[in-house]
Amino acid sequence: MNRSQVQEQPITEQESRLKSIRSKPVAWLAENIRLVVQVGFALLCVWIGIEFHFFVEYMASGGTGSTSYRPPGVEGFLPISSLMNLYYFLLTGNIHAAHPAGLFILLGVVVVSLVFGKSFCSWLCPVGLISETLGDLGDKIFGRRLRLPRWLDYPLRSIKYLLLDFFVYSIFFLMTAASLKAFLDSPYNIIADIKMYYFFADITRFSLIVIAVLFFLSIPIRNFWCRYLCPYGALLGIASLLSPHKIKRNVSNCTDCGLCAKVCPSSIKIDKVKTVISDECTACLSCVEECPEENTLELKLVTTERAVSRKQVAIGVVGLFMLITGMAMLTANWQNRITIEEYLQYHKNYNSYGHLTSGDDIRELNRETEQGYENHGE
Ligand code: SF4
Ligand code: SF4
Repeated sequence: MNRSQVQEQPITEQESRLKSIRSKPVAWLAENIRLVVQVGFALLCVWIGIEFHFFVEYMASGGTGSTSYRPPGVEGFLPISSLMNLYYFLLTGNIHAAHPAGLFILLGVVVVSLVFGKSFCSWLCPVGLISETLGDLGDKIFGRRLRLPRWLDYPLRSIKYLLLDFFVYSIFFLMTAASLKAFLDSPYNIIADIKMYYFFADITRFSLIVIAVLFFLSIPIRNFWCRYLCPYGALLGIASLLSPHKIKRNVSNCTDCGLCAKVCPSSIKIDKVKTVISDECTACLSCVEECPEENTLELKLVTTERAVSRKQVAIGVVGLFMLITGMAMLTANWQNRITIEEYLQYHKNYNSYGHLTSGDDIRELNRETEQGYENHGE
């Protein structure tokens, strides 16, 4: 029997049922691929948190416990130290050894945003997933989305940029290579992850109230933290403006139904523009999925007008992030070079280490490091 004869055989009812059962999970996966990626990344963060918890317990036991593995992924939660490491690398060509994984995670997140817009927020960030879930809950409770009026929305949105400005100015405009090194070498920076752990483990009533308020505000006001306060999101929003991928509307096919704008979590008026150029667009593709007209609303590569599918965005976002963090592993920049003995020593006094709190602190550090160089005849 040749190949064409085989293809001509009619498919039996049982075969077609089996085919449909097999294709159901695949279809579900394709439909919900963003959620799958988000949950997968959130579970990875939970796993890192559990491992880090045991590491801190080992430190607290004075090194007598049973584990001492510190997951480098925890450095993804130290964006300011990573930003300092980035500037230190740009000035000196060296990657500081305290939190090298943090630097590569930061680079991974920024590169993903440069290529696929602010996609980190809607595809990978666990805080984004929590905000989105709370927003969905709010939709169910209130039956509609609360959108703040423009006169309030715009000034609130600028808060995250002011916070970003503060960090960028403090690091890139005030710090020198010597003061960066001094800070990155400091016990405070080395155990910043442990201090962050204790911040949440022994959280004060005030901090708990602030977090709870932000949490509950995300129910009626979609993505409250991400839209108004997250400086990381502000950085990625700026990077996303340079992305060659944009949501594009084919005006001749569009029926002006407005469904895309209604579903957009970032309140972008997609139905009024041809191309979405916004620092708030997270490439979530909700608008594309909602549009009832075929080939009308698509994420496109602006240079070739080629449409990019949900699956391609998923592969691109996850692949790029893995590629860059994988480079850290291949170049021996994933694990830091702090020994367990050093960690145990620093942990003993973890409560006594303070950090830079103002421009004056940074200037003082600059003076001290300059004097240090002079005293050593450098
Ligand atoms: S719904 Fe569309 S325009 Fe709105 S954030 Fe998502 S991708 Fe961007
Ligand atoms: S959902 Fe589609 S058809 Fe409706 S306004 Fe948006 S782009 Fe036009």
